[in-house]
Parts: sequence; C-alpha cells; structure tokens
Amino acid sequence: MTHYEVHAIKYGSHVLKSSQAFLMEDPHDSPWPIFYYVWLVQGGGRNILIDTGFTKERAAKRGRSIERCPSEGLKTFGLGPEDIDTVILTHLHYDHAGNIPLFPNADIYIQDKEVSFATGRYVRYPAVRLPFEADDVCELVRQNYNGRVRFVDGDKELFDGFKVHLMGGHSRGLMCVTVATRRGLVVLASDCAHFYDNLALDNPFPIIADVPTQCETQERLIALADSPSHVVPGHDPKVMELYPRHPGDENTVDLTADLLGPSPLG
Ligand SMILES: [Zn+2]
Repeated sequence: MTHYEVHAIKYGSHVLKSSQAFLMEDPHDSPWPIFYYVWLVQGGGRNILIDTGFTKERAAKRGRSIERCPSEGLKTFGLGPEDIDTVILTHLHYDHAGNIPLFPNADIYIQDKEVSFATGRYVRYPAVRLPFEADDVCELVRQNYNGRVRFVDGDKELFDGFKVHLMGGHSRGLMCVTVATRRGLVVLASDCAHFYDNLALDNPFPIIADVPTQCETQERLIALADSPSHVVPGHDPKVMELYPRHPGDENTVDLTADLLGPSPLG
C-alpha cells in the first residue's frame, strides 16, 4: 500500500469566544483561538491538496487574519499551485473552498450532497448560508462546466490508501479523509471536528446542518482512525504544537511524524 506524506499548512487565524466553539454550555469561558489550515498529501506520484482556504478578500470581509495565500505554503515543498493534481473540497464553507481558480491542473473532488446543499433550497435562509460564499459556490459550478469536478456519493477510495468518507452534520455533504501513512491511518477531520475538545467533551462546534448526524460524525471519526491520536481536527491551534515543524516553514507541520506530546484524546 502507498504510504503518504501529510502536512498541515496554516494560513490564517482568528480569536473566537469559547462559547462560539461549542454547541452546549462550554466550560472554558475564555478567548478561543482558531487556526485555518489546508492539508498537503503526497505519495504515489500525486500532490493532493485538501481544501483551498479563503482569499484575502474573504478574510477582510469576515474579520479574519490571513497570513499568506494557502498556495504559498506549497513553496517549501518545491511546489507551485500548478503542481497540484487533485483538490479535495471537504465542504463548501468559505474557509475551505475559496481560491479554486488557483489550481488550474487539479481534478476537484466533492460530495454530491454538498453541492446539492450549497446550491439548493435552504441557502435562501441567512442562518444556513452564513458559512458559504456565493462566489465560491458559483466558481465550483463553473469548474464543473469546465469538466474538472469529480462527484463522489458516499465513501470512496480515490487512490490506493487514500479514502474520502461522507460524514455530514456540520454541513450536509461534509467529508473527512483517511490516509495511509508510516504511522498508520491518519484521519484528516476537516470540520467533522474543529477542535480536540469538541471530541473530548462530546460537544460539537455550533455551526451544524443536522445535530444528530454531527454527533454520529464525531463518533465515527474516532472509529475510523488507528487510534484517537491519529485524528487531526480541522481548526485546532494545538495541532501546531503536537507535530514537528516542517523545515523552513514554522507554519507547516508533519502529520506523519510521531506526536511531540500526549494526544488530548488519549
Ligand atoms: Zn465548515
């Protein structure tokens, strides 16, 4: 089986209130930093980018800090955006699906359900469309007309040792990714779990399309991984402390290395 190299590339940040990070009462009552990442997966001759991050314009509009374009994080790997052959869009929220035009040579994978949700009847409601940007969704549609979008319906092994899983909950067609690596099967949770504490406290992030499904999603995440320490939450600053830095880039960490300390999930 192919063993992949997997890196988390941080490109932005913000500080929430902890009450904005948990659906039920939260025990922290403190400022709650959130980091924004994309993930680079390399192996079997492929350069796969999971999610495309937000743009400078979106960062300004939504009051987020953007430290670099997500594609700039590819440079320390000797890659440019044109070298990415596969883009996985875990879902279409603004912080995961901007910048699509930057990757001209990539096939774009997304779940049927996510496209239906983001283009369907419910986004007429402000509370549903809040995490989406119409321009990003329209760009995905445009790329489909260009023949570059590959729809997935459910769980699928896209490449040897590289699988996407339809999870839902936080967004209708949200997926996570499992990747075979030298330290075992790593689960890139994306927004199936924003923070370790969403899982540890069984208390989901409050932006949710379907609460019961999100509860099952969190349980399934743990079950998919070789161990709880193989789950990588989508927005947790602790990821930057738990994994070794990639040489030459203090904002990128190696997710295939052993953890530098105990996992918050045991
Ligand atoms: Zn999201």
